[in-house]
Amino acid sequence: MEKISVEDIQSLYGIDAWGGKYFSVSEEGDLLVSPVEKRGESVNVKKIVQELKKSRVQTPVLLRFPQILSHQVSRLCKAFDHAIREFSYQEQYSPVFPIKVNQIRHVVQSLLQSGYSHNLGLEVGSKPELMASLGMELPKDALTICNGFKDQSYFEMASLGASMGRNVVVVLEKPFELEQLMKLKKSGAVLPWLGIRIKLQAKGSGHWEKSGGQASKFGMTTIQLLQAIEFLRKHDMLSQLKLLHFHIGSQVTEIRKIKSAIKEAARIYAKIRKNAIGIDYIDVGGGLGVDYDGSKTSSDASVNYTVKEYANDVVYTIAEVCESEHVPHPKIISESGRALVTHHSMLIFDVRDQISESHSQAPVFQNKESQVVSELIYINENISVKNYREYYHDAVEKKDELYSLFNLGMLDIEDRAKGEWLYWQIAIKAIRSSKTAKFVADEFVELEQKMFDKAVCNFSVFQSIPDHWAIDQLFPVVPIHRLNEKPTRKATLVDITCDSDGEIDKFVDLKDTKYALEMHELVEGQPYYVAVLMVGAYQDTMGDLHNLFGAVNDVEVVYDEGKAIIKSVKRGDTISDTMQMYGYEEEKLLAIVRNRLQEVGLSQSESDDLFERYKNQFPRYPYLDSED
Ligand SMILES: *Cc1c(COP(=O)(O)O)cnc(C)c1O
Repeated sequence: MEKISVEDIQSLYGIDAWGGKYFSVSEEGDLLVSPVEKRGESVNVKKIVQELKKSRVQTPVLLRFPQILSHQVSRLCKAFDHAIREFSYQEQYSPVFPIKVNQIRHVVQSLLQSGYSHNLGLEVGSKPELMASLGMELPKDALTICNGFKDQSYFEMASLGASMGRNVVVVLEKPFELEQLMKLKKSGAVLPWLGIRIKLQAKGSGHWEKSGGQASKFGMTTIQLLQAIEFLRKHDMLSQLKLLHFHIGSQVTEIRKIKSAIKEAARIYAKIRKNAIGIDYIDVGGGLGVDYDGSKTSSDASVNYTVKEYANDVVYTIAEVCESEHVPHPKIISESGRALVTHHSMLIFDVRDQISESHSQAPVFQNKESQVVSELIYINENISVKNYREYYHDAVEKKDELYSLFNLGMLDIEDRAKGEWLYWQIAIKAIRSSKTAKFVADEFVELEQKMFDKAVCNFSVFQSIPDHWAIDQLFPVVPIHRLNEKPTRKATLVDITCDSDGEIDKFVDLKDTKYALEMHELVEGQPYYVAVLMVGAYQDTMGDLHNLFGAVNDVEVVYDEGKAIIKSVKRGDTISDTMQMYGYEEEKLLAIVRNRLQEVGLSQSESDDLFERYKNQFPRYPYLDSED
């Protein structure tokens, strides 16, 4: 076994680039998390997994670090506080957490606690989200911002919030919502504050670019904005209008896109502020991105700016426009979701097998082989750095010939096996030789990609990292142990669903995307664990139950007084749970299976035994049982 240094392994997986101060590797080769961002005060992930296993909480498991949530909130608030001081800004900043990014109550509560002194509020995009938020304690001055498409009862719930003393802001998206507002007014209910979402000319960048711009599905055009203000004035509701809102999409990768959106929105604020003097909030929406690959570039998995730069640009730009227009500085709200929660959780699963085309056992050759097999033997023995291209091409031709002859009934299945095996040996040698050239030809790059191992991993992409499947989002992936050993295998990760899309075949890399993950050789009888990191935003509720694999075990870990503490364990769905969701009732299934077992004429004890086995599976985890 070859050793590798901490520095080298950290740069191999990019941990030093994307990990910030949260993630690192110990001298013993274990993945560490420093939830309070201090080196030395860290949680050893492997030890947590082992401890959980002792209490029969098996992988796949999601580990959450609520202290990371606090840290991210204070990082964002500090950046804005700093900018406000630096540019002598006259008003304050408050974050608002968009709960669609992670609705889990524990997560929202941790954020509310950490953001209390900054009046952290909530943004909701639907009636159920609004109802959830009304049941949470918010600071007195915090806002509850209501976005999304609304019906009359959504307006009523917002009014109910206002009656509770909450600062509820209903953001008007479309002109028809003014009619709903009128109905609410006529009913005599308490009116919430109002905001207007505007359509900017400016667009974001990256995957969610189409959330902004004139063609976006959200927000009012300029004429609609002016008419809405007129409508509110006419019906004596203009004093309720407090906020101007825009959102140009999530994970905006380029800072100049953010700057131009702010510039445009601030100008609109300034122009309407002169008539609608109640408007004293500007809400810059979400979009603050996360550097998943550590490259600090405008590629989709990265951002070319820091939180500090973002805060500086928002504050400076708004101040500049307001001063030139001689209007007061507004209070600033941002709806950063991804940036607050991404880092706080990681998924850990065990690897069950490494499937490899090229690592299979050699067949036994006879003295006299068929023509085509003999020719492949010759190529395999004589391929070299000098002739590899030509010899490899010959091998491809021979392989085609092998299959044709087999299909015509002219070769035995043993010949087919030998031929296939030889072809892969030749391919390995060709790839190795191709690497000695200055430029590796595309065909050998592609060939290598085809030959990566497939590591079979005990999880479901569809349940746990749906964005990888749906929108090709990249997440950092790292083994959680043995990181002091040099990895010797390269693999894509296939999940245990019966779906060929259930695979991670793209990995973060500083320069480019990698098509395989460096891994270690599995050791018989020893589990091998891999973590997918930075899955705290959007993944928790977007997952589905493909193949009836349900929610995974969910564990909170905190670092306190020198050690890691498992704070809470929420068991994942059982087989019974996931079946029930689709109409399979345990009682009915049990009755049918019991009857059937009795009918087929087994002895009573055999039938009882089989029935017990069936029944015992219901309360269990749908994922693969641990092997030890
Ligand atoms: C989704 C959404 C957000 C969150 O965006 P992030 O990029 O996660 O910060 C904020 N505001 C609105 C209106 C949204 O729809």
